[in-house]
Amino acid sequence: MKKSVLFLLAALMMAASCSIEGGFSKNDLQIIHGAPGELLKVYTIESEEELLVLRAVSEDLSPKVLGGDDYALLAERMKMTVADTSVGGVGIAAPQVGINKRVVVVQRFDKEGEPFEAYPNISILEYSEEKTKGAEGCLSVPNERYDVNRSSCIVISYFDVEKGEMVSETVSGFTAVIFQHEVDHLDGIIYTDRVLM
Ligand SMILES: [Zn+2]
Repeated sequence: MKKSVLFLLAALMMAASCSIEGGFSKNDLQIIHGAPGELLKVYTIESEEELLVLRAVSEDLSPKVLGGDDYALLAERMKMTVADTSVGGVGIAAPQVGINKRVVVVQRFDKEGEPFEAYPNISILEYSEEKTKGAEGCLSVPNERYDVNRSSCIVISYFDVEKGEMVSETVSGFTAVIFQHEVDHLDGIIYTDRVLM
């Protein structure tokens, strides 16, 4: 009896230490906690190694991980990086800083003060048929701009960290374009894939 309990405990502990489903990998944690106070390195298509990360499909994080300090620090550092004047972006996705998890930061031009906000476990539930053509750029594709067609209105779904649950929201205009560009990154899609010929 005692032996079997011990065995069960050992098995549980092993499972806990090996399991990374819904959690950050060792490499993710090194990026999140490395070089504190500095901007995160932005991956570009110019490096073959970084392109592999940009082309990979990202995974969701568990609610427990999203309530923790590692996620809070990642969100903070992604905001700091994209908002820095030397970077000058309007949005960034976690793969762009080397982390294949479904997290984006978007500048909410549709809100007062135009804040940068983080959205974990995000997906787009609906796209309006009406589309608008606009020029886009990407921090991972330096010095280029191309026209892309995007839906004028979308419905997003994401995990609200404060509420501790999934919520949905309708977004339109330029902010909706940023969301579409950033969520594409989570599926390994780069906006140049969508350039109008
Ligand atoms: Zn981009």
